[in-house]
Amino acid sequence: MASTTQVTASTCCYCGVGCGVLIEHDGEKILGVAGDPSHPANFGKLCSKGSTLHLTGDLDARALYPELRLGKGLARSRTDWDSGLDHAAAVFAETIREHGPDSVAFYISGQLLTEDYYAFNKLARALVGTHNIDSNSRLCMSSAVVGYKRSLGADAPPCSYEDIEQSDCLLIAGSNMAYAHPVLFRRLEEAKARRPEMKVIVVDPRRTDTCELADLHLAILPGTDVALFHGILHILLWEGWIDRRYIDVHTEGFEALKNLVRDYSPAATADICGISLDALQRCAELIGRAPSFLSLWCMGLNQSSAGSAKNSALINLHLATGQIGKPGAGPFSLTGQPNAMGGRETGSLSNLLPGHREAANAEHRAEVATYWGVDALPETPGLSAIELFDAVHDGRIKALWIACTNPAQSLPNQSKVHEALAACPFVVVQEAFFTTETCRYADLLLPAASWGEKEGTVTNSERRVSHVRRAVPAPAETRPDWSITCDFARRLETLLRPGLPSLFDFADSESLFEEYKHLTAQRDLDLSGLSYALLDEQGPQQWPFPAGARQGTARLYADGHFPTASGRAQFHADPYRAPKEKREARYSLTLNTGRLRDQWHGMSRTGTAARLFGHVEAAVLGLHPDELRRRRLHDGDLIKLRSRRGSLILPVQADESVRPGQAWLPMHWGDRFLKGLGTNVLTQPAFDPLSKQPELKHAGVEVDKV
Ligand code: SF4
Repeated sequence: MASTTQVTASTCCYCGVGCGVLIEHDGEKILGVAGDPSHPANFGKLCSKGSTLHLTGDLDARALYPELRLGKGLARSRTDWDSGLDHAAAVFAETIREHGPDSVAFYISGQLLTEDYYAFNKLARALVGTHNIDSNSRLCMSSAVVGYKRSLGADAPPCSYEDIEQSDCLLIAGSNMAYAHPVLFRRLEEAKARRPEMKVIVVDPRRTDTCELADLHLAILPGTDVALFHGILHILLWEGWIDRRYIDVHTEGFEALKNLVRDYSPAATADICGISLDALQRCAELIGRAPSFLSLWCMGLNQSSAGSAKNSALINLHLATGQIGKPGAGPFSLTGQPNAMGGRETGSLSNLLPGHREAANAEHRAEVATYWGVDALPETPGLSAIELFDAVHDGRIKALWIACTNPAQSLPNQSKVHEALAACPFVVVQEAFFTTETCRYADLLLPAASWGEKEGTVTNSERRVSHVRRAVPAPAETRPDWSITCDFARRLETLLRPGLPSLFDFADSESLFEEYKHLTAQRDLDLSGLSYALLDEQGPQQWPFPAGARQGTARLYADGHFPTASGRAQFHADPYRAPKEKREARYSLTLNTGRLRDQWHGMSRTGTAARLFGHVEAAVLGLHPDELRRRRLHDGDLIKLRSRRGSLILPVQADESVRPGQAWLPMHWGDRFLKGLGTNVLTQPAFDPLSKQPELKHAGVEVDKV
């Protein structure tokens, strides 16, 4: 390290593990990165993505100056911040006056910092007067939010990372943890090496690298998780491997569930799930006999039209066995994005409000309105991601603000999303990278600061809040997201509520955090005891951390009391429902999408580092060798992959990890890397009725040789 090199402790900006990083820099430029040995999420370890952070974010790919166009057919040209934001404020104010507050919308991101989220929420709900603010977390975690809330009473993952190391039996469902949460997976690998008697069960239609650690892999047919969990409960009941005392004292609704799971006999379950009776029995036995049982899950359960039911059916197993609130036990959702948790906390889904409140709850709306000093928050419900872009498509939304996310690649049914963005009268994109597909549709492009250039806080999967520190100045004219949002809001309020004191008088991110944290006081996630100074002195902390607390809370529900009306956890008896698109003659394959080890989301950052293409160089479709033979295809043949919504041209490859009847394609590829719009041109917008999370995992597709 050169003598002028400085080190700033911060966090990785990729996944929800929330690893601590030490940024090496010279005060102007980031030179290197290392794991932070003192951070309790990773104790110095980093994965391939985190350890190459300093090689990404090339300025050639960065949006560096505001750009504006005054007509759809025109090219954008450079402008200054004042002109750009004044223009945006005038357009938003005019649209709101003419068409009402619900004619505008904000679509934000699980990669924003908590302070950014808070500023956007206050802007949308208090100033504009709309709940049309949703986030790409809708595509990621909203089914887990519903699962936790309806089963346990609050959106609070009850476990800590140390529980993963302490557990006797882990069930990993719908998660390629080895790729998606690599540092946490390494902690699990090390724990199993120390205690080989620890059992690991992986439930995944595909034989992923995570399965290498598994004592048992259940390659269930796509989308059959609810049937599997009910079938496991059926066996637990039959064998007497349930905790009757826990059920009687701490839960409600068990009899209805017991009646339902009578229908899920081992034979029926094995048939629905496409697994052997032996494997099912062994899975139930491992869970039923384990002193401690912990489950981990991710998109395989969440991205489903039955996502809420899948979450609740898995939580049912924990409640029936009393495996929650004790070391090594509990239902533990793995958050995809670095601050999806912070988004849920600040109310960054259309149905939420800050402090884990509900937008549909009049008392909650009144509490937040009073705190913000406005008369009331709107009653009209906001639109969730798919509904929101449908409203853009049919002209109900006339001005759209997108921040730190790339819906033109990440939303399902991409052709429709592209049509919507092209037709929307005014699109603002607040973004660090001008290379994203969405930037092409920006009438106003606002350059945002990125990793290492901005300050704030994030919450990781285990409810741990870290202070994200700035190491270097933001380049050129880029600005932190909270600063852009508040600057726009101040201009808009002079038009919408002239003469009144500003709601956005924030000098820095810390002042936003200080205002926000009091909205969490006495709520389940109470952060009111935290401050930037405390996080600096004592390190990252888990919530709840109420005012006066000396430390956070590692494990929830240890006393068996749940934040429901009755104080008891709730069983849910949701029958198994098949995915919306079934295999049929014209679309004989089910497409599964997921992550690569070395890429992140739409590759706007990881796609700038050549080293990260060493693992997988280019987009290929994975098919079982039998499917290739049946179609007279060979490795490397170009194929047309089509669904009911669109098609892609790409090579095919034999892949033994995929079962016959299924196809596998990483989610990351956009039109910069493929012939066709991108992976999500194929996926479908059907969504879960409670969580509104779309079924990105199961689309009917067919392959034709070209
Ligand atoms: Fe970053 Fe996640 Fe890798 Fe940790 S595990 S270094 S948070 S991508």
